[in-house]
Amino acid sequence: MKTHAIIPIFIPHKGCPNDCVFCNQKAITARSADVSPQDVKNIIESYLPTLQGRNLQTIEVAFFGGSFTGIPMEEQAAFLKVAKAYKEKGLIQKIHMSTRPDYINEAILDNLKAHDADIIELGVQSFDEEVLTAANRGHTPDDIYRACRLIHDYRFTLGIQLMIGLPGDDMQKCTFSASETVAMRPAIARLYPAIVLNGTQLYKMYQAGTYTPLTTEEAVRITKAMYQILDDAGINIIRVGLKSTDLIREGGEIQGHTYHPAFRQLVEGEIAKEQLEGQLKELLEETQTQEPPKRSAEQPAKQRPPGKQMQAQRHNPPGLPDRQSTKQQMHTQQNGQRRPASPNPQKTGRPRGILSSDTASPNAPAGTVRPQNTPQAPAPHSFVFCASGNSFSNMIGNAKRNKIYFAKQYPHLKIKYKADPSLEDGRYVVVKC
Ligand code: SF4
Repeated sequence: MKTHAIIPIFIPHKGCPNDCVFCNQKAITARSADVSPQDVKNIIESYLPTLQGRNLQTIEVAFFGGSFTGIPMEEQAAFLKVAKAYKEKGLIQKIHMSTRPDYINEAILDNLKAHDADIIELGVQSFDEEVLTAANRGHTPDDIYRACRLIHDYRFTLGIQLMIGLPGDDMQKCTFSASETVAMRPAIARLYPAIVLNGTQLYKMYQAGTYTPLTTEEAVRITKAMYQILDDAGINIIRVGLKSTDLIREGGEIQGHTYHPAFRQLVEGEIAKEQLEGQLKELLEETQTQEPPKRSAEQPAKQRPPGKQMQAQRHNPPGLPDRQSTKQQMHTQQNGQRRPASPNPQKTGRPRGILSSDTASPNAPAGTVRPQNTPQAPAPHSFVFCASGNSFSNMIGNAKRNKIYFAKQYPHLKIKYKADPSLEDGRYVVVKC
């Protein structure tokens, strides 16, 4: 159950002197009306009745949009004063804002402290100097480090936003940014793939062919690596990807194929798949070493040298697709390359690696009669994949893609999917039946 709600207040940064390649603030602010302190009061008043009776522990008023601390200090103070009054009455618990690293200094933080602000989110985008320059951010990595230190010194809660796939960016630079984020000890983080919006410099670069947006698959692969770094460090990742409502506010029209409306689920679904497959492979390996060596249909065990029998099983164990081909499949998928065909039970008439109980060897000539001592086919291995109720849809994957993947990749296994309330969110467990 949700215990936390945000009242978002969009403060456009009119006259922002920067010109980040991905930003269309100028187009938005040109057509958006000024926001006044009275508007802030009206927005809070309209939200509060909808949040009552929901057992929320925390309600935040959050000033998003351009760069809150870049607007004139007296305007900041006027907005903050409104929010502070609600905080003093106990109607909201936190005041939150987003800004740029180079708009943080002692005077700004003193003003925020005087108005009882709590959370400062920095639009860091990248810790790589080349990426920051190519994105025309107008600040350096040193500005980020300095701002993070100051925010901690003033005992505000720090948040960091990173963007994936800006010009000059790559997997290594993105994971470096995630590692540096961990070093800055933020409490919260957001991960956004760069989206090409009409009316931006990035759009012009895209049209000129000097910028190629990430595909959805590439964006998922890189974001997944960053997500795991942040998650392992205990950072609360409050957003992954833009919501459709963000896009409407940002001007709506996008180019390229990076955007996906369920981007977070794509990323978390990939993580679930990786966890489940790792455990499944281990269990299959264990099963293989525990099971007594199996006899071939054509050749009873007594007539076969034991060493050779084991060798044959290691080469192509029962219950598993050929290991080499599995490795190739994993490798090619990780690299986003063409996926080789999965073992197809429809083609062969039965799953690979399992001896059918009513069929002689496929190599046996027609009319071959099964020898009396041929062993019965082993029952297909059954597994249950478990996740908490909240993580169940990630386990299944967006549009059931994980379920489809496991059914194709392991056609000889029986796999059930179960919600287990005893599991914590984001943890996936494979149980062998
Ligand atoms: S992203 Fe922020 S700093 Fe950059 S141009 Fe837009 S409003 Fe200005």
